Amino acid sequence: MPELPEVETVKETLKKEVLKRTINDVIVYYDNIIAYPSVLEFKKNIKGQTINDIERRGKFLMFKLDDYYLLSHLRMEGRYYIKNGEKLKHEHVRFILNDKELRYIDTRKFGRMYLLPIKDVFNLKPLNELGLEPWDSNLTIDYLKNKYKNKKLPIKTVLLDQSIITGIGNIYDDEVLFLSKINPYKKACDLRDSDLNNIINNTKIVLEKAIKLGGTTIRSYESSEGVHGLFQNELLVHGKDICPNCGSILEKEHINGRGTYYCKKCQK
Ligand SMILES: [Zn+2]
Repeated sequence: MPELPEVETVKETLKKEVLKRTINDVIVYYDNIIAYPSVLEFKKNIKGQTINDIERRGKFLMFKLDDYYLLSHLRMEGRYYIKNGEKLKHEHVRFILNDKELRYIDTRKFGRMYLLPIKDVFNLKPLNELGLEPWDSNLTIDYLKNKYKNKKLPIKTVLLDQSIITGIGNIYDDEVLFLSKINPYKKACDLRDSDLNNIINNTKIVLEKAIKLGGTTIRSYESSEGVHGLFQNELLVHGKDICPNCGSILEKEHINGRGTYYCKKCQK
């Protein structure tokens, strides 16, 4: 699943390909990808709009058009592909730009797009449901204390809650908790101030490094050159066998259904 660093990589790659292009037409092959508005309105409103910028909020790509934001969430398997010609396997939406075609491909069909008025976008669903970006100056110990005070769930699960901090997915969650020396089963409400401080700092460290290396997966965008994420070489615990700190065998368990890697000795 693409996480924040992968979405950031897709954003930067797409910017090189589609900025300043006008969307002359759009073909929707699978209606459910368009979450809002209706497919008819989506098609009508997007025609003639120019892609002026691409931004990111949480795991949403935000294509900034003249009058609208096109939001795109890739969910499990969503990908963009630039190619002219015949319909591709699993292609669900095609944007016909003045000089090229941008295709949205999604084997699982879980991805969603929204076309929202530019001035209201942050006050409307889905962006108004997102918590703070990891780099937001409002992300403080007090902010987390307040959000976590009634949360009796394991911190592993709570870190995935996008309404508190947005952008931490399953892989980076394990990495942040390892660097913070926190046991993933620890209840969020029981964390000390020093734990919260470590979570805030290590989230930034892990995500910044992953963004620099182009993320962990390479599936979210394809071009003739390809985009290769290198962060998988830098993972400390997720998908690994041995603790890089003490050499113990890592624990591999499911916490609320999510595969979790941690060191019993280093994360108490
Ligand atoms: Zn260890």
